[in-house]
Amino acid sequence: MHCKIRTAGGFSNHFPDHIIIWAMPAIGVFLQLIILFEAFMTDPSRYLVTAALPYANGPLHIGHIAGCYLPSDIYTRYQRAQKRDIKFICASDEHGVPITIRALKEGVSPQQVVDKYHALMKESFEQMGISFDIYSRTSNKVHHETSSAFFKKLYDDGLFEEKETEQYYDEKTKTFLADRYIIGTCPVCANPGAYGDQCERCGSSLSPEQLINPRSALSDAVPVKRKTKHWYFPLQDYEPWLKQWVLEEHKEWKNNVYGQCKSWLDMGLQSRAMTRDSNWGVKVPLPDAEGKVLYVWFDAPIGYISATKELTDQWADYWCKDDTKLVHFIGKDNIVFHCIIFPAMLKAHGNFVLPDNVPANEFLNIEGDKVSTSRNWAVWVHEYIKDFPGCEDVLRYVLCANAPETKDNDFTWKDFQDRNNSELVSIFGNFVNRTFVLMHKLCGGKVPKLHEELLDDNDKTLIADIESTKADVQSALEFFRFRDGLFQVIDLSRKGNQYLQKKEPWILTKQLAENPEVQKSIDNTLHICLQLCANLAVLINPFLPGTAKKMLHMMKVVDKMLDWENAGKMKLLSVGYSLREPQLLFRKIEEEEINAQVEKLRSGLVKKEDPKMEEQKAPEQTPAAKAQIVYDDFAKLELKAGTVLACEKVEKADKLLKLEIDLGTEKRTIVSGIALHYTPEEMVGKQVIVVTNLAPRKMKGIESQGMILTAEDSDGKLQLLKPENPVSPGSNVS
Ligand SMILES: [Zn+2]
Repeated sequence: MHCKIRTAGGFSNHFPDHIIIWAMPAIGVFLQLIILFEAFMTDPSRYLVTAALPYANGPLHIGHIAGCYLPSDIYTRYQRAQKRDIKFICASDEHGVPITIRALKEGVSPQQVVDKYHALMKESFEQMGISFDIYSRTSNKVHHETSSAFFKKLYDDGLFEEKETEQYYDEKTKTFLADRYIIGTCPVCANPGAYGDQCERCGSSLSPEQLINPRSALSDAVPVKRKTKHWYFPLQDYEPWLKQWVLEEHKEWKNNVYGQCKSWLDMGLQSRAMTRDSNWGVKVPLPDAEGKVLYVWFDAPIGYISATKELTDQWADYWCKDDTKLVHFIGKDNIVFHCIIFPAMLKAHGNFVLPDNVPANEFLNIEGDKVSTSRNWAVWVHEYIKDFPGCEDVLRYVLCANAPETKDNDFTWKDFQDRNNSELVSIFGNFVNRTFVLMHKLCGGKVPKLHEELLDDNDKTLIADIESTKADVQSALEFFRFRDGLFQVIDLSRKGNQYLQKKEPWILTKQLAENPEVQKSIDNTLHICLQLCANLAVLINPFLPGTAKKMLHMMKVVDKMLDWENAGKMKLLSVGYSLREPQLLFRKIEEEEINAQVEKLRSGLVKKEDPKMEEQKAPEQTPAAKAQIVYDDFAKLELKAGTVLACEKVEKADKLLKLEIDLGTEKRTIVSGIALHYTPEEMVGKQVIVVTNLAPRKMKGIESQGMILTAEDSDGKLQLLKPENPVSPGSNVS
């Protein structure tokens, strides 16, 4: 069923080199044709698209959207426009240790934590136009029933190993310490804050036994060992099957996905406990399992099935019939769960289809640094929507154009501004706007007639481009190359601009008095441009649905025009039909807006709390308390006292000062957002506290080598932190 494209290298064993060189292009074309042929030949009867269940213990950031929600939404919108039977499934993942720890620290119940973040995430998805057919939650009854029944079936079939083992136990809080309940030093990189399931510094997957100096994340107590019973799923029994299924039958999967699966399978699989000691989660449906729940990675993927059940009575068609195409969109951190563990569970259960593809994206970094929710280094979606109202499509555009499809990519506010101003505004928006303005000016606000006998080479070339772009975008979308597809659409609008520039109807109109025949040429140009606008609406719709909607309004046509079958056609708008005045599709984004965002990010001002929750607080607002940290977290900071040697304003930045600071053994340049509170003159000679081990960052072209500490008063006034009496520059602060 799937083309084994990677075996092409094997030709070199049988053919002399010169034949290979001669044959390679032909083989490449041939293989591509096979892929295309198979894709359309095997046309599934229905599609089931899932997006990774986001974890309900914090708001969404743009890395989430870029990672799996935007690509899955583009794919689904495209398939809907193709009128294919498709369901788009997602839910909040509401179980697992981080939620219980957060609840404990905030002094609320786990249910309160998940209620708050489920609502916030759901709203953010809707505002970003992520068009799930259902956005459910794993705390729902139907999910508890579905995942229990799944577990029970594997249990009744005798597929689990029941094992009693010694596990770490916190006597103070009377809790078994699995996963993130336990912290210790990483045996690989010596990170003192590694968790019982993973070290976030080096990425190693760990078990609690591997941690050096383990301690409880709940009470900091040194744990003892205690016996407990759990149910293990013997992954090794599925290893031969997985090797065949993934490594042989799914060679078409993305390289990053295939590669990660291969390395897991090469290392060899082991039994994995599918239950935990906890009271938060899906109860283990066995009589002797009091105080035990399903492992969150056992129940979460089953959430896709539960949500489909909630959505439709026909759910079994989507999950149990072989002619369904199941596609899991995920981020790279979930590859092992979706390509190895969940398929093995589905295989063991026996009633369900297996994923056809798992197009995982890599990570999106922010301004050159990894996203970190604990450091608040993230662009929060609900904040973006508030700061840039009506610009949801701009974020969709930038995140798709810059998507981490094959490697980690970087989001910068400068790039956001550039892409908006020089691509959306100057190319796409400009073409549509010019076309409508000219049509109102030169053709009486109506779609002019096409005089086919007068078509010249420029006209014919553009018409051919419109027809061929459909196939290019389509093949990109079918094979999960969303960036490529988007660039094809923008490129077509660029060709429209170039065409208008060549035809210059605004110059031709000056000849009308002497030669009325010229109007025919003007009509042809505007007719073709208008048909191109209609085509652009169809093609851009999966990517920027809000923009497509605005274009429909301007053209006074109904949603049906956006059906994919209309792409490539030159008769979407009827001759003589009158169209509305143009409205701007995109606005320019100014320097100040971008500077404000960079500063907000840098100064950590992005509030992590749901704005609605804040409104309910007392009028005297206190910033949200951050999560508790251990001493080792604090000890990572290097703080020193320094003396300001020189200070000046940063050009074109109202809020920034550039400071030269003496730190005893060295001098540093630091850019700080305090210009509204201190003049350069005031600063010289002052002592300040500097964070000296912060990664350097460029601001307005100046590399800032650290950060100075300030306190913000309730009225927003900044005050410098400084030693009570002068100390020698470079003195340690602790
Ligand atoms: Zn480590």
